[in-house]
Amino acid sequence: MVEMLEGFSLASKTLEHFLHENLTDLKSKGLYNVIDPLQSANGPVITISGKKLINLSSNNYLGLATDQRLIEAAVAAAQKYGVGAGAVRTINGTLELHTKLEEKLAAFKHTEAAIAYQSGFNCNMAAISAVMDKDDAILSDELNHASIIDGCRLSRAQIIRVNHSDIDDLRAKAKEAKESGKYKKLMVITDGVFSMDGDVAKLPEIVEVAEEFDLITYVDDAHGSGVLGKGAGTVKHFGLSDKIDFQIGTLSKAIGVVGGYVAGRQELIDWLKVRSRPFLFSTALTPADVAASIAAIDILQASTELHDKLWENGNYLKKGLKELGFNIGHSETPITPCIIGDEQQTQEFSKRLYEEGVYAKAIVFPTVAKGTGRVRNMPTAAHTKEMLDQALSIYEKVGKEMGILK
Ligand code: PMP
Repeated sequence: MVEMLEGFSLASKTLEHFLHENLTDLKSKGLYNVIDPLQSANGPVITISGKKLINLSSNNYLGLATDQRLIEAAVAAAQKYGVGAGAVRTINGTLELHTKLEEKLAAFKHTEAAIAYQSGFNCNMAAISAVMDKDDAILSDELNHASIIDGCRLSRAQIIRVNHSDIDDLRAKAKEAKESGKYKKLMVITDGVFSMDGDVAKLPEIVEVAEEFDLITYVDDAHGSGVLGKGAGTVKHFGLSDKIDFQIGTLSKAIGVVGGYVAGRQELIDWLKVRSRPFLFSTALTPADVAASIAAIDILQASTELHDKLWENGNYLKKGLKELGFNIGHSETPITPCIIGDEQQTQEFSKRLYEEGVYAKAIVFPTVAKGTGRVRNMPTAAHTKEMLDQALSIYEKVGKEMGILK
Protein backbone atom coordinates (compact mmCIF):
# COMPACT_ATOMS: atom_id res chain seq x y z
CA MET A 1 0.00 0.00 0.00
CA VAL A 2 2.76 2.43 0.99
CA GLU A 3 4.64 1.59 -2.21
CA MET A 4 1.56 2.37 -4.28
CA LEU A 5 1.12 5.72 -2.55
CA GLU A 6 4.73 6.76 -2.97
CA GLY A 7 4.35 7.46 -6.66
CA PHE A 8 0.93 9.02 -6.16
CA SER A 9 0.32 12.46 -7.55
CA LEU A 10 -2.78 14.50 -8.22
CA ALA A 11 -4.06 14.68 -11.77
CA SER A 12 -3.90 18.48 -11.67
CA LYS A 13 -0.54 20.17 -11.03
CA THR A 14 -2.39 23.36 -10.13
CA LEU A 15 -4.31 21.57 -7.38
CA GLU A 16 -1.14 19.86 -6.17
CA HIS A 17 0.60 23.21 -5.86
CA PHE A 18 -2.35 24.84 -4.18
CA LEU A 19 -2.67 22.10 -1.55
CA HIS A 20 1.02 21.80 -0.84
CA GLU A 21 1.60 25.54 -0.48
CA ASN A 22 -1.41 26.14 1.75
CA LEU A 23 -0.95 23.10 3.96
CA THR A 24 2.73 23.98 4.50
CA ASP A 25 1.74 27.54 5.38
CA LEU A 26 -0.91 26.40 7.90
CA LYS A 27 1.48 23.95 9.52
CA SER A 28 4.25 26.56 9.81
CA LYS A 29 1.83 28.92 11.61
CA GLY A 30 0.59 26.25 14.01
CA LEU A 31 -2.91 26.54 12.49
CA TYR A 32 -3.19 23.00 11.15
CA ASN A 33 -5.68 21.15 13.31
CA VAL A 34 -4.30 17.89 14.60
CA ILE A 35 -7.08 15.46 15.41
CA ASP A 36 -6.74 13.06 18.35
CA PRO A 37 -9.03 10.05 17.85
CA LEU A 38 -10.82 8.90 21.01
CA GLN A 39 -10.45 5.28 22.06
CA SER A 40 -13.47 5.56 24.33
CA ALA A 41 -16.96 7.08 24.30
CA ASN A 42 -17.09 10.89 24.52
CA GLY A 43 -18.02 10.83 28.21
CA PRO A 44 -16.68 12.82 31.20
CA VAL A 45 -13.44 10.81 31.07
CA ILE A 46 -11.97 9.89 27.69
CA THR A 47 -9.02 7.85 26.47
CA ILE A 48 -6.63 9.20 23.85
CA SER A 49 -3.44 7.34 22.90
CA GLY A 50 -3.97 5.09 25.91
CA LYS A 51 -4.12 8.06 28.27
CA LYS A 52 -7.16 8.76 30.49
CA LEU A 53 -8.22 12.41 30.56
CA ILE A 54 -10.93 14.44 32.24
CA ASN A 55 -12.93 15.67 29.29
CA LEU A 56 -13.94 19.33 29.30
CA SER A 57 -14.35 19.71 25.55
CA SER A 58 -17.52 17.96 24.47
CA ASN A 59 -20.96 19.44 23.77
CA ASN A 60 -22.52 16.40 25.43
CA TYR A 61 -23.99 18.77 28.04
CA LEU A 62 -26.35 16.36 29.73
CA GLY A 63 -24.21 13.24 29.37
CA LEU A 64 -26.87 11.68 27.15
CA ALA A 65 -24.41 10.51 24.48
CA THR A 66 -23.58 7.54 26.69
CA ASP A 67 -26.92 7.16 28.48
CA GLN A 68 -28.07 3.55 28.61
CA ARG A 69 -31.68 4.47 27.81
CA LEU A 70 -30.64 6.09 24.52
CA ILE A 71 -28.35 3.20 23.66
CA GLU A 72 -31.16 0.70 24.22
CA ALA A 73 -33.56 2.76 22.09
CA ALA A 74 -30.97 2.94 19.30
CA VAL A 75 -30.33 -0.80 19.38
CA ALA A 76 -34.05 -1.63 19.35
CA ALA A 77 -34.64 0.73 16.40
CA ALA A 78 -31.75 -0.76 14.44
CA GLN A 79 -33.17 -4.23 15.08
CA LYS A 80 -36.61 -3.23 13.87
CA TYR A 81 -35.86 -0.76 11.05
CA GLY A 82 -32.27 -1.56 10.06
CA VAL A 83 -29.30 0.78 10.11
CA GLY A 84 -30.22 3.09 7.24
CA ALA A 85 -33.40 4.94 6.28
CA GLY A 86 -32.91 3.83 2.69
CA ALA A 87 -33.98 7.00 0.88
CA VAL A 88 -34.53 10.72 1.17
CA ARG A 89 -37.48 11.80 3.29
CA THR A 90 -39.76 12.67 0.35
CA ILE A 91 -39.32 9.38 -1.51
CA ASN A 92 -39.72 6.65 1.08
CA GLY A 93 -37.09 7.44 3.71
CA THR A 94 -39.66 8.78 6.19
CA LEU A 95 -40.16 6.12 8.83
CA GLU A 96 -42.91 6.44 11.41
CA LEU A 97 -40.02 7.19 13.79
CA HIS A 98 -39.15 10.41 11.92
CA THR A 99 -42.73 11.64 12.21
CA LYS A 100 -42.77 10.77 15.90
CA LEU A 101 -39.51 12.64 16.47
CA GLU A 102 -40.91 15.74 14.74
CA GLU A 103 -44.04 15.66 16.89
CA LYS A 104 -41.90 15.35 20.01
CA LEU A 105 -39.66 18.22 18.91
CA ALA A 106 -42.66 20.49 18.33
CA ALA A 107 -44.00 19.69 21.81
CA PHE A 108 -40.54 20.17 23.34
CA LYS A 109 -40.21 23.59 21.68
CA HIS A 110 -43.84 24.65 22.24
CA THR A 111 -44.51 25.11 18.52
CA GLU A 112 -47.08 23.77 16.06
CA ALA A 113 -44.68 21.64 14.05
CA ALA A 114 -41.05 20.68 13.45
CA ILE A 115 -38.85 19.24 10.71
CA ALA A 116 -35.71 17.17 11.29
CA TYR A 117 -32.52 17.33 9.25
CA GLN A 118 -29.33 15.28 9.17
CA SER A 119 -27.35 17.82 11.19
CA GLY A 120 -27.57 21.29 12.70
CA PHE A 121 -25.18 22.57 10.06
CA ASN A 122 -27.32 21.13 7.32
CA CYS A 123 -30.41 22.58 8.94
CA ASN A 124 -29.13 26.18 8.77
CA MET A 125 -28.08 25.72 5.15
CA ALA A 126 -31.53 24.29 4.40
CA ALA A 127 -33.80 26.62 6.30
CA ILE A 128 -32.30 30.02 5.48
CA SER A 129 -32.00 29.37 1.76
CA ALA A 130 -35.52 27.93 1.55
CA VAL A 131 -37.03 31.25 2.61
CA MET A 132 -34.56 34.01 1.73
CA ASP A 133 -33.29 34.93 -1.74
CA LYS A 134 -31.47 37.61 -3.68
CA ASP A 135 -34.23 40.19 -3.21
CA ASP A 136 -33.92 39.93 0.58
CA ALA A 137 -31.55 40.99 3.35
CA ILE A 138 -30.42 39.23 6.53
CA LEU A 139 -29.25 41.06 9.67
CA SER A 140 -26.77 38.62 11.17
CA ASP A 141 -24.88 38.91 14.47
CA GLU A 142 -21.14 39.03 13.75
CA LEU A 143 -20.49 36.08 16.07
CA ASN A 144 -23.08 33.78 14.51
CA HIS A 145 -22.04 30.21 13.83
CA ALA A 146 -20.34 29.23 10.56
CA SER A 147 -23.38 27.25 9.41
CA ILE A 148 -25.55 30.37 9.69
CA ILE A 149 -23.02 32.33 7.66
CA ASP A 150 -22.94 29.62 5.01
CA GLY A 151 -26.75 29.37 4.97
CA CYS A 152 -26.99 33.14 4.48
CA ARG A 153 -24.45 33.01 1.63
CA LEU A 154 -26.29 30.14 -0.03
CA SER A 155 -29.53 32.12 0.00
CA ARG A 156 -27.87 34.94 -2.02
CA ALA A 157 -29.61 37.50 0.20
CA GLN A 158 -27.71 40.65 1.18
CA ILE A 159 -25.91 39.94 4.46
CA ILE A 160 -25.82 42.86 6.89
CA ARG A 161 -23.40 42.16 9.75
CA VAL A 162 -24.57 43.42 13.12
CA ASN A 163 -22.12 44.16 15.97
CA HIS A 164 -22.30 41.41 18.56
CA SER A 165 -25.45 41.72 20.71
CA ASP A 166 -25.60 45.44 19.93
CA ILE A 167 -29.28 46.34 19.82
CA ASP A 168 -28.69 49.96 18.76
CA ASP A 169 -26.66 48.73 15.81
CA LEU A 170 -29.37 46.20 14.93
CA ARG A 171 -32.09 48.86 15.11
CA ALA A 172 -30.12 51.35 12.98
CA LYS A 173 -29.33 48.76 10.32
CA ALA A 174 -32.88 47.36 10.28
CA LYS A 175 -34.24 50.90 9.86
CA GLU A 176 -31.86 51.66 7.03
CA ALA A 177 -32.65 48.38 5.25
CA LYS A 178 -36.40 48.90 5.64
CA GLU A 179 -36.34 52.51 4.53
CA SER A 180 -34.12 51.79 1.53
CA GLY A 181 -37.05 49.90 -0.01
CA LYS A 182 -34.49 47.63 -1.68
CA TYR A 183 -35.52 44.37 -0.04
CA LYS A 184 -38.65 42.23 -0.19
CA LYS A 185 -38.05 40.36 3.06
CA LEU A 186 -35.85 41.12 6.05
CA MET A 187 -34.63 38.57 8.58
CA VAL A 188 -32.77 38.90 11.87
CA ILE A 189 -30.71 35.89 12.80
CA THR A 190 -28.81 35.07 15.96
CA ASP A 191 -27.37 32.24 18.00
CA GLY A 192 -29.41 31.73 21.19
CA VAL A 193 -26.24 31.04 23.21
CA PHE A 194 -22.87 32.03 21.76
CA SER A 195 -20.65 29.02 22.08
CA MET A 196 -17.25 30.69 22.49
CA ASP A 197 -18.21 32.98 25.39
CA GLY A 198 -21.37 31.38 26.75
CA ASP A 199 -23.35 34.64 26.58
CA VAL A 200 -27.07 34.67 25.76
CA ALA A 201 -28.67 36.62 22.89
CA LYS A 202 -30.82 39.61 23.96
CA LEU A 203 -33.94 38.07 22.53
CA PRO A 204 -36.56 40.37 24.12
CA GLU A 205 -34.85 43.44 22.61
CA ILE A 206 -34.30 41.67 19.28
CA VAL A 207 -38.01 40.81 19.17
CA GLU A 208 -38.89 44.47 19.82
CA VAL A 209 -36.78 45.57 16.85
CA ALA A 210 -38.24 42.75 14.75
CA GLU A 211 -41.77 43.91 15.53
CA GLU A 212 -40.88 47.51 14.68
CA PHE A 213 -39.51 46.64 11.24
CA ASP A 214 -41.39 43.41 10.43
CA LEU A 215 -38.31 41.21 10.53
CA ILE A 216 -38.50 37.44 10.23
CA THR A 217 -36.99 36.09 13.47
CA TYR A 218 -34.51 33.20 13.44
CA VAL A 219 -32.76 31.78 16.52
CA ASP A 220 -30.19 28.99 16.35
CA ASP A 221 -30.38 27.47 19.80
CA ALA A 222 -27.79 24.73 19.35
CA HIS A 223 -26.20 25.58 22.72
CA GLY A 224 -29.34 26.73 24.56
CA SER A 225 -31.55 23.67 24.13
CA GLY A 226 -31.32 21.37 27.12
CA VAL A 227 -29.50 24.15 28.97
CA LEU A 228 -31.79 27.20 29.30
CA GLY A 229 -35.55 27.44 29.88
CA LYS A 230 -35.44 24.35 32.12
CA GLY A 231 -34.22 22.50 29.04
CA ALA A 232 -36.64 23.88 26.45
CA GLY A 233 -34.13 26.49 25.30
CA THR A 234 -33.43 30.20 25.07
CA VAL A 235 -36.72 31.15 23.42
CA LYS A 236 -38.71 29.48 26.20
CA HIS A 237 -36.35 30.98 28.79
CA PHE A 238 -37.53 34.42 27.68
CA GLY A 239 -41.17 33.31 27.15
CA LEU A 240 -41.02 34.22 23.45
CA SER A 241 -42.24 31.01 21.81
CA ASP A 242 -44.88 32.85 19.77
CA LYS A 243 -42.50 35.61 18.66
CA ILE A 244 -39.73 33.60 17.03
CA ASP A 245 -40.46 32.26 13.54
CA PHE A 246 -37.57 29.81 13.30
CA GLN A 247 -36.31 27.91 16.32
CA ILE A 248 -33.30 25.92 15.19
CA GLY A 249 -31.84 23.14 17.28
CA THR A 250 -29.36 20.36 17.04
CA LEU A 251 -29.71 16.79 18.23
CA SER A 252 -25.93 16.57 18.60
CA LYS A 253 -25.24 18.56 21.77
CA ALA A 254 -27.53 18.32 24.83
CA ILE A 255 -29.62 15.64 23.08
CA GLY A 256 -26.42 13.60 22.68
CA VAL A 257 -27.01 12.09 19.23
CA VAL A 258 -26.80 13.72 15.77
CA GLY A 259 -29.20 15.72 13.60
CA GLY A 260 -30.80 19.15 13.47
CA TYR A 261 -34.30 20.61 13.37
CA VAL A 262 -36.49 23.64 12.83
CA ALA A 263 -39.50 24.15 15.09
CA GLY A 264 -42.13 26.71 14.17
CA ARG A 265 -45.58 27.34 12.67
CA GLN A 266 -47.18 24.57 10.62
CA GLU A 267 -47.06 26.49 7.33
CA LEU A 268 -43.37 27.25 7.76
CA ILE A 269 -42.61 23.58 8.29
CA ASP A 270 -44.85 22.64 5.33
CA TRP A 271 -42.84 25.03 3.17
CA LEU A 272 -39.50 23.62 4.36
CA LYS A 273 -40.73 20.13 3.52
CA VAL A 274 -41.23 21.10 -0.10
CA ARG A 275 -38.41 23.60 -0.55
CA SER A 276 -35.42 22.79 1.64
CA ARG A 277 -32.88 20.91 -0.39
CA PRO A 278 -31.22 18.63 2.21
CA PHE A 279 -34.71 17.36 3.10
CA LEU A 280 -35.45 16.68 -0.55
CA PHE A 281 -32.08 15.44 -1.74
CA SER A 282 -30.16 13.85 1.15
CA THR A 283 -30.93 10.55 2.88
CA ALA A 284 -32.92 10.74 6.11
CA LEU A 285 -31.49 10.36 9.62
CA THR A 286 -30.84 6.75 10.59
CA PRO A 287 -33.43 4.86 12.68
CA ALA A 288 -30.98 4.50 15.58
CA ASP A 289 -30.29 8.26 15.68
CA VAL A 290 -33.97 9.08 15.56
CA ALA A 291 -34.95 6.59 18.26
CA ALA A 292 -32.14 7.73 20.57
CA SER A 293 -33.19 11.37 20.06
CA ILE A 294 -36.79 10.53 20.93
CA ALA A 295 -35.59 8.81 24.11
CA ALA A 296 -33.53 11.90 24.99
CA ILE A 297 -36.47 14.27 24.56
CA ASP A 298 -38.64 11.98 26.70
CA ILE A 299 -35.98 12.13 29.44
CA LEU A 300 -35.76 15.94 29.25
CA GLN A 301 -39.52 16.31 29.42
CA ALA A 302 -39.94 13.90 32.31
CA SER A 303 -37.44 15.58 34.65
CA THR A 304 -35.04 18.50 34.99
CA GLU A 305 -32.56 16.36 36.93
CA LEU A 306 -29.83 16.36 34.24
CA HIS A 307 -30.39 20.04 33.48
CA ASP A 308 -30.05 20.89 37.18
CA LYS A 309 -26.91 18.78 37.51
CA LEU A 310 -25.36 20.52 34.48
CA TRP A 311 -25.92 23.92 36.10
CA GLU A 312 -24.62 22.73 39.46
CA ASN A 313 -21.43 21.44 37.81
CA GLY A 314 -21.12 24.54 35.61
CA ASN A 315 -21.41 26.87 38.57
CA TYR A 316 -18.96 24.80 40.60
CA LEU A 317 -16.30 24.84 37.90
CA LYS A 318 -16.81 28.54 37.18
CA LYS A 319 -16.50 29.46 40.85
CA GLY A 320 -13.37 27.32 41.20
CA LEU A 321 -11.62 28.77 38.15
CA LYS A 322 -12.56 32.31 39.13
CA GLU A 323 -11.27 31.84 42.67
CA LEU A 324 -7.99 30.54 41.29
CA GLY A 325 -7.70 33.83 39.41
CA PHE A 326 -8.46 32.85 35.81
CA ASN A 327 -10.25 35.24 33.47
CA ILE A 328 -13.49 33.37 32.73
CA GLY A 329 -15.16 36.14 30.72
CA HIS A 330 -18.89 36.84 31.04
CA SER A 331 -20.54 33.51 30.43
CA GLU A 332 -24.20 33.24 31.44
CA THR A 333 -24.32 29.47 30.85
CA PRO A 334 -22.24 26.44 31.90
CA ILE A 335 -19.82 27.12 28.99
CA THR A 336 -16.73 28.38 30.81
CA PRO A 337 -13.90 29.93 28.82
CA CYS A 338 -10.50 30.46 30.41
CA ILE A 339 -9.25 33.42 28.43
CA ILE A 340 -5.46 33.38 28.10
CA GLY A 341 -5.03 35.91 25.27
CA ASP A 342 -1.84 35.08 23.40
CA GLU A 343 -2.38 32.27 20.88
CA GLN A 344 0.92 30.45 21.46
CA GLN A 345 0.49 30.58 25.23
CA THR A 346 -3.06 29.28 24.89
CA GLN A 347 -1.85 26.32 22.82
CA GLU A 348 0.91 25.63 25.35
CA PHE A 349 -1.55 25.87 28.25
CA SER A 350 -3.90 23.36 26.61
CA LYS A 351 -0.95 21.05 25.87
CA ARG A 352 0.22 21.15 29.49
CA LEU A 353 -3.33 20.47 30.73
CA TYR A 354 -3.37 17.44 28.45
CA GLU A 355 -0.07 16.19 29.83
CA GLU A 356 -1.43 16.53 33.35
CA GLY A 357 -4.72 14.78 32.51
CA VAL A 358 -7.31 17.33 31.35
CA TYR A 359 -8.64 17.53 27.81
CA ALA A 360 -9.58 21.18 27.19
CA LYS A 361 -8.95 22.27 23.65
CA ALA A 362 -7.37 25.62 22.79
CA ILE A 363 -9.59 27.91 20.74
CA VAL A 364 -7.70 30.58 18.82
CA PHE A 365 -8.05 32.93 15.84
CA PRO A 366 -9.94 32.67 13.48
CA THR A 367 -12.55 30.90 15.65
CA VAL A 368 -12.23 33.78 18.17
CA ALA A 369 -10.76 37.27 17.75
CA LYS A 370 -6.97 37.70 17.68
CA GLY A 371 -5.46 38.06 21.15
CA THR A 372 -8.42 36.36 22.86
CA GLY A 373 -7.17 32.78 22.70
CA ARG A 374 -8.84 30.58 25.27
CA VAL A 375 -9.30 27.14 26.60
CA ARG A 376 -13.00 26.47 26.58
CA ASN A 377 -14.45 24.26 29.29
CA MET A 378 -17.72 22.45 28.91
CA PRO A 379 -18.65 20.74 32.17
CA THR A 380 -21.50 18.27 31.75
CA ALA A 381 -24.13 16.65 33.94
CA ALA A 382 -22.03 13.47 33.86
CA HIS A 383 -18.99 14.92 35.65
CA THR A 384 -18.57 14.13 39.34
CA LYS A 385 -17.35 16.67 41.91
CA GLU A 386 -14.15 14.60 42.22
CA MET A 387 -13.45 14.97 38.50
CA LEU A 388 -14.02 18.71 38.65
CA ASP A 389 -11.81 19.05 41.75
CA GLN A 390 -9.07 17.09 40.03
CA ALA A 391 -9.37 19.30 36.94
CA LEU A 392 -9.23 22.44 39.11
CA SER A 393 -6.06 21.32 40.85
CA ILE A 394 -4.44 20.63 37.47
CA TYR A 395 -5.53 24.08 36.28
CA GLU A 396 -3.95 25.61 39.36
CA LYS A 397 -0.70 23.69 38.91
CA VAL A 398 -0.33 24.53 35.19
CA GLY A 399 -1.57 28.11 35.62
CA LYS A 400 1.08 28.80 38.29
CA GLU A 401 3.83 27.00 36.44
CA MET A 402 3.17 29.08 33.30
CA GLY A 403 2.85 32.36 35.19
CA ILE A 404 -0.81 32.79 34.18
CA LEU A 405 -1.78 32.70 37.85
CA LYS A 406 0.07 34.73 40.45
N1 PMP B 1 -25.25 25.99 15.14
C1 PMP B 1 -24.43 26.27 16.16
C2 PMP B 1 -24.63 27.54 16.92
C3 PMP B 1 -23.42 25.37 16.52
O1 PMP B 1 -22.60 25.64 17.53
C4 PMP B 1 -23.29 24.17 15.80
C5 PMP B 1 -22.25 23.11 16.16
N2 PMP B 1 -21.00 23.52 16.45
C6 PMP B 1 -24.16 23.94 14.73
C7 PMP B 1 -25.13 24.86 14.44
C8 PMP B 1 -24.02 22.70 13.90
O2 PMP B 1 -24.66 21.65 14.55
P1 PMP B 1 -24.31 20.14 14.19
O3 PMP B 1 -23.08 19.79 14.93
O4 PMP B 1 -25.52 19.39 14.61
O5 PMP B 1 -24.11 20.09 12.71
